[in-house]
Amino acid sequence: MNSGIFIERNGILNLARVVGRAQTSPYSVEEFVVNAEAREPLDQLRRAGFVLIATVNQPALSTGQLARRDLEEMHKRLKNQLPLDDIRVCPHTEADDCPCRKPKAGLFFEAAHHWRLNLDQSFVLSDKWQDAEAAQNAGCTSILVRSPWNGHGHHDYVAANLAAAANRIMQIHKYRSQPLLEPGIESQSITSLIGAVCR
Ligand SMILES: [Zn+2]
Repeated sequence: MNSGIFIERNGILNLARVVGRAQTSPYSVEEFVVNAEAREPLDQLRRAGFVLIATVNQPALSTGQLARRDLEEMHKRLKNQLPLDDIRVCPHTEADDCPCRKPKAGLFFEAAHHWRLNLDQSFVLSDKWQDAEAAQNAGCTSILVRSPWNGHGHHDYVAANLAAAANRIMQIHKYRSQPLLEPGIESQSITSLIGAVCR
């Protein structure tokens, strides 16, 4: 089984468009700007063996504001510039009541099946509460990069920026991957070793 990181696209992998107080998706290829600062943290996570999966809600596909052709071009650019294994999209609106629109965890479950991911050992990286809630629904650990969209719901960690978030994921993963030492057994063997030396 693999460990994965589900990474929200808008605001993390591409620069977000902010309209009023809300974050929205770019609707044209010209507006789509890959976040260059994501490259190094993602390279680091890829080297550590994580499967990297971008996820995004794109209701504009259903409403006709965004053409499928343009989205494909945006994602081609994203994959060319960042080390991503997969990009998963929910094309539905809230009214569709689908199982994949975040904060529901359908995109995570689909990707976990495809990539053979252990969700308990996987992470969600975002700047929004919807992803933290989806992480909780899927049993993943959530790391939010501090933003006006963090919300007040459950999340596991908050990081100042993407680099700090990647470091935190590496730390937690390393800690979890260590073989469990049973203190009782360890001290017993030390006692017998000391005993042997004394005799
Ligand atoms: Zn959906």
